[in-house]
Amino acid sequence: MFMDGIAACSAFLQGLGVVAFAVRLHELALTRCTSQRAEVFATSMTFALGAAVSMTFPLHFTPGITFDLRHVFLVLAAPFGGWPAVLATAGTAGFLRFLQGGIGMEAGFAGIAISAMVSLVIAHFHAKRRGYSFVGLSVIGLASSLSLISLFLLPMPLAIEVFQRVALPFIGVNFVGVLVSAESLNKIRLQLHREKALVRDTSIDPLTGLSNRRVFDARGPELAESGIQDKGRYAIMIIDIDRFKSINDTFGHANGDKVLKDVSRIISDYAREDDLVVRYGGEEIALVLPGCDEQRTAVIADRIREGIESNTIEVSGINLKVTVSIGYVVVEETGKGFWAAFEEADTALYRAKNAGRNRVEQAKGNELAA
Ligand code: GH3
Ligand code: MG
Ligand code: MG
Repeated sequence: MFMDGIAACSAFLQGLGVVAFAVRLHELALTRCTSQRAEVFATSMTFALGAAVSMTFPLHFTPGITFDLRHVFLVLAAPFGGWPAVLATAGTAGFLRFLQGGIGMEAGFAGIAISAMVSLVIAHFHAKRRGYSFVGLSVIGLASSLSLISLFLLPMPLAIEVFQRVALPFIGVNFVGVLVSAESLNKIRLQLHREKALVRDTSIDPLTGLSNRRVFDARGPELAESGIQDKGRYAIMIIDIDRFKSINDTFGHANGDKVLKDVSRIISDYAREDDLVVRYGGEEIALVLPGCDEQRTAVIADRIREGIESNTIEVSGINLKVTVSIGYVVVEETGKGFWAAFEEADTALYRAKNAGRNRVEQAKGNELAA
């Protein structure tokens, strides 16, 4: 009896170890994920691996009774990783159960299928809510033992005997496993989402959705340097909306915002994935284009200017047309500092303004800011 107790305790501790392993893995994967798709993939892999590790090192209770935590990972798969996680976890568990073989194989498959279904049902009814309450988790914990029904695929006398011996510890292990895993997974998720939201709030301009000046100051010089290293050049472009103040004065600030958003969208459409596009100031947008030569930069600047000129924005029932002036500099030498180049692009922008607006001007090099 005493030995049984020791065995049960060590099995519980081992189970907690597997859960902690999977949770830590999940945290590591999520901190490196930048897209939702990557998050789902990482979650799927973590849950599948958690089930696989648990099935490879099952928990030994009294002699003759072993379990694993596959059902914990299975029922939590959909709430945390959607159907891809269910597919990955159920597929992995099913494959390993097939390799194990034996008389209980059919019951094993059925149990996996039941838990996968339970998982999808839970996710379906919980889709809109954030996090799980203790009661919610307790229900999931109990639901993770519904797979016990699959035991009755065994010959009836055997099924009853096994049920009597395993039901209680099985329910206990799954219950504790679900509570501990889900609680930790929830915490990690909330923390990571908070951190990501914080980064977003301090780096993204809420009106245009572009990065802000803080990002330009930090990333601009780095990106320029990488352009010099990789292709021997980079370009800086500064774009300013013409007579924007009169748009605000005539149509109101809200409509001015609308114009600013539309212009930002057009500029983003012309930028490549590697380019940095930021709202540098009020109605001024700056770009760093790593690897861009003079010809390419001139083409991009012309396209942006023409694209904005030919676009119409519906404002207070009329179709408004706006124009921009653009100044740019192309740097093909290592000696020039980023901010010196930026000043040159700014000076070129002033020249474009003074020459009548709706124009593109290239920096002439070493001209002084106006
Ligand atoms: P120029 O052709 O010389 O660039 O003339 P401008 O009127 O565009 O230049 P100016 O710098 O005098 O005016 C910029 C205006 O941009 C003034 C400011 O009220 C407006 N502005 C700055 N930020 C915002 C914003 O977020 N929303 C709106 N609607 N207007 C803004
Ligand atoms: Mg302006
Ligand atoms: Mg301006």
